[in-house]
Amino acid sequence: MFKLSPLPYDFDALAPHISEATLKVHYGKHHQGYVDKLNAAVEGTELEGTSLEEIIQAAREKPDQGLFNNAAQVWNHDFFWKSMSPDDSKPSDDLAAAIEKAFGDTDGFKKAFKEAATGRFGSGWAWLVADSGTLEVESTGNAELPLALGSVPLICCDVWEHAYYLDYQNRRPDFVDAFLDHLIDWDFASRNWQAA
Ligand code: FE
Repeated sequence: MFKLSPLPYDFDALAPHISEATLKVHYGKHHQGYVDKLNAAVEGTELEGTSLEEIIQAAREKPDQGLFNNAAQVWNHDFFWKSMSPDDSKPSDDLAAAIEKAFGDTDGFKKAFKEAATGRFGSGWAWLVADSGTLEVESTGNAELPLALGSVPLICCDVWEHAYYLDYQNRRPDFVDAFLDHLIDWDFASRNWQAA
């Protein structure tokens, strides 16, 4: 049985950029819902008792995408909560150098990430990833994730409407700006870059 991972901060910790109301429904209802559906879908199958990552890899080949979608969404949300922090942080020297190399400067990174996040039609995710030692920005649709595509994620932003609609309504670009300017946990990103 999978359990909902603890949220790494209080429900009101990311306000005003993400409100307490949004976090309560996003974590407590949406994320919990994916965990519940994952448990129901994996019960009694040959994948019961294996790791979340193994389930994601095995389930993505199946014609019925229900198990993949719920397993991947559990993983994606765990990673999204860890991608943010109420505390100020900045990229490690190593990561800052890689950002400069890949995007010119921090503004270049933000522009590329915002394009990926706002350019994703419908539901999905924006990611900063390491691919063969280079940083890239990508977006994935619905539950899809870099883990399954061969690159190593450093941070992600949820761009499903449930992530921002209570606070920003249709203004996804404003939500993405808040994520980029105020919410990214650069310590988490730097550790992931180190390990990539
Ligand atoms: Fe979400």
